[in-house]
Amino acid sequence: MIDAIKKLMVIGAHPDDAEFHAAGLMCLWRDCGHALKILSLTDGGAGHQSLERQALIERRHQEAAQAAALLGAELEIWSEPDGELEAGVSQRLALIRTIRRYQPDVIVTHRSNDYHPDHRAAGTLVQDAAYLLQVPNVAPEAPPLARLPAILLMADEFDDPRPFRPDYIVDTSSYLSRITELLDCHVSQVYEWLPHIMNVDVPATNRKAWLERWYRARPARIAARFAGTGVEYAEAFEVSAYGRSFNAAELDLQEAT
Ligand SMILES: [Zn+2]
Repeated sequence: MIDAIKKLMVIGAHPDDAEFHAAGLMCLWRDCGHALKILSLTDGGAGHQSLERQALIERRHQEAAQAAALLGAELEIWSEPDGELEAGVSQRLALIRTIRRYQPDVIVTHRSNDYHPDHRAAGTLVQDAAYLLQVPNVAPEAPPLARLPAILLMADEFDDPRPFRPDYIVDTSSYLSRITELLDCHVSQVYEWLPHIMNVDVPATNRKAWLERWYRARPARIAARFAGTGVEYAEAFEVSAYGRSFNAAELDLQEAT
């Protein structure tokens, strides 16, 4: 039983980043009875081989809304152009206001070293906002937070300048079919754009089963860590030193062995 509703805010650069990197954690969080908000800092208008920006933006808003509805999550998508996100002062102030209004206990976002400039900018924006969330003279129109959120960084495969550090690992084996359902909402990405850019063929039939196999094959490093332990699938997060300390038990979350 939970003592109080906690709030998780997943801040991604694009409308599918939350589901790609933290779907299992979001399912676990909602199953604990906690509240969830997904924030995409860009409009998602870049990632497609044939759709032009406005048509893609509209489609991706629908896809993200469908996934958020499955999760019972709030959804906010900013109008910053996909591929052009900057970690500027205006974006930082807007993010501070948005985080203060929601008052999350935990924020999940990207690390600031990543292949995608929007992911790097999103990670930098959250880092730059963190301390200032409690400073009243910054963005004074939104009241400062009394309590700093914990900040968890989503897993990636990049070693330079420093490899991802798996501080918090969630056994998401029992969520695989729900994770697949969430990713399946993002049709323009998982069945069109990503296979195109990765030169992968999508089968004509039973594509959801293909999606699950494809998804499970991605985090090889994390899977290797659990070889022989009975944990079939896991998500890992790095705890940022810029947020408050992270305590899974305090949030009624369970940690994998
Ligand atoms: Zn992304």
